[in-house]
Amino acid sequence: TVGAVAVDNYGNVSYATSTGGITGKLCGRVGDSPIVGSGGYADNRSGAVSTTGDGEAFVKLCFAKHVSMLMEQGCSPQLAVEKGIQLLEERLDGKGGCIAVNNKGQVGIHFNSKGMAWAVVDHNGTRYGLFKGGNNTG
Ligand code: ASP
Repeated sequence: TVGAVAVDNYGNVSYATSTGGITGKLCGRVGDSPIVGSGGYADNRSGAVSTTGDGEAFVKLCFAKHVSMLMEQGCSPQLAVEKGIQLLEERLDGKGGCIAVNNKGQVGIHFNSKGMAWAVVDHNGTRYGLFKGGNNTG
């Protein structure tokens, strides 16, 4: 998966999630990535979310919408993605990762898979981090 979340100076948020799917997938499988609310979601009232990992688990949980709702209810993006991944693991033994940004520009990054590369870029184009391997709380 390649995923992105963004916010502009006016608090407009957006997301994009792109994937080739999982290895060995059945013909006709639809994963989470193209399903709004599962592999991604964006709402200016809360923030934007993009996911990677076990698509079936993300679909069953309406994962991205769930994380977005947590932000709307007041969770920081970091807390929201941590709660989301915790739910994924507890409910479905799912593995994956999630990035989020809220309408104020705060960022959340979390995963329980073996690794996830990520970067944060501000409006000046500054890269703050890139990480792969092991877990990370952003
Ligand atoms: N979430 C994707 C899927 O299940 C896999 C991935 O992370 O690329 O289709």
